Amino acid sequence: MNKGLLLVISGPAGVGKGTVIKKLLENKDYVFSVSATTRSPRTGEEDGINYYFVTKNEFQRKIRANEMLEYAEYVGNFYGTPRSFVMSKLGEGKNVVLEIDTAGALQVKSQMPDAVLVFIGPPSMENLEERLRGRGTEDESVIERRMKTAKKELGFINKYDYCVINDDSAWEKTAREIEAIVLAEKHSVKRKNVIIPEKNNRQ
Ligand code: 5GP
Repeated sequence: MNKGLLLVISGPAGVGKGTVIKKLLENKDYVFSVSATTRSPRTGEEDGINYYFVTKNEFQRKIRANEMLEYAEYVGNFYGTPRSFVMSKLGEGKNVVLEIDTAGALQVKSQMPDAVLVFIGPPSMENLEERLRGRGTEDESVIERRMKTAKKELGFINKYDYCVINDDSAWEKTAREIEAIVLAEKHSVKRKNVIIPEKNNRQ
């Protein structure tokens, strides 16, 4: 069966997930699942491209209507994955990329055990903090909260199937590593209907 693979990518803010995913999406076998969020758009972000920016009321309505595959609260805002897009693209044979936090990733894995969870880590915590400050889009208190959250998230690495390290400006290599993971997963015996000879049949 030529079904797409559900690829869940997490990693602390500032690790460069966005750039890695952009590179990955140059491969037309991959599509990105645009999440819904209640946070405000950052400069340059567009509704329907980066996120669906919705009110808290609208987000809660979506939860009640079972329209979310998963959702989580992150640094005071809600984020969630619309279910119907994911299901229809997997059916079309596309690899669907979710960029979600650790709580959401674990929800997805429990509902869809075939999902592959990849954690993108920084080379060091110092490097991560430098990158967060370099981004210049958040004030000091938000940076502190994001660093605290990052430390918590790193504690979940062992729940993931794979971990890749995104060194400075090495996003192309990181994207290639993720493609290699997907390729290997697609050939994994557990995903194929491999014919297993019956026991004791060998003479
Ligand atoms: P940011 O505000 O920096 O865009 O995202 C903050 C965090 O929310 C990131 O860790 C990101 O991966 C996560 N996130 C984005 N979309 C979703 C989603 O649909 N569900 C969950 N659970 N987390 C998400």
